Parts: sequence; structure tokens; C-alpha cells
Amino acid sequence: MALVSCHICNSPVADDAPNCMKCGTPGPKQQRKKNLIKNMRLLAFVAVLVVLGYAWFVFIPEIQQQGLLNNGG
Ligand SMILES: [Zn+2]
Repeated sequence: MALVSCHICNSPVADDAPNCMKCGTPGPKQQRKKNLIKNMRLLAFVAVLVVLGYAWFVFIPEIQQQGLLNNGG
């Protein structure tokens, strides 16, 4: 547990406190939670891209093979 200064009233706040005891501003932990949600969204986006990329490499050769079969008769 470390003390940081409140960005509103500059009084010392524990970095794991939910909010500033003096002015009630949400503490650093609350802001970190917001960042975490942001990171999770980014992670989900990257995961979707990875899955799409994987699907591309798995399905495109299959489609090409089927196309060749159809063309070849
Ligand atoms: Zn404060």
C-alpha cells in the first residue's frame, strides 16, 4: 500500500483506497479498473483478429481445393 496524492485536492490517498477521504474523488484503483476494461476490450479485438486470421489460413486452402475440383470436373 502506497500513498499517492489526490489529483483533485492533492491530499494523500492510499493507492488501494476506493476514493479520496477528503473530497471523495474515485481513487487510483478505480481509475486502474477503467484502464483494465479498456485493455480487455483491446484484448478481445485482438483475439477476434487472431481467430479471423486463423480461419483465413484454414478455410481459404479448402475453398481453393474445392474450386479446383469443381473446375476440373
Ligand atoms: Zn481529494
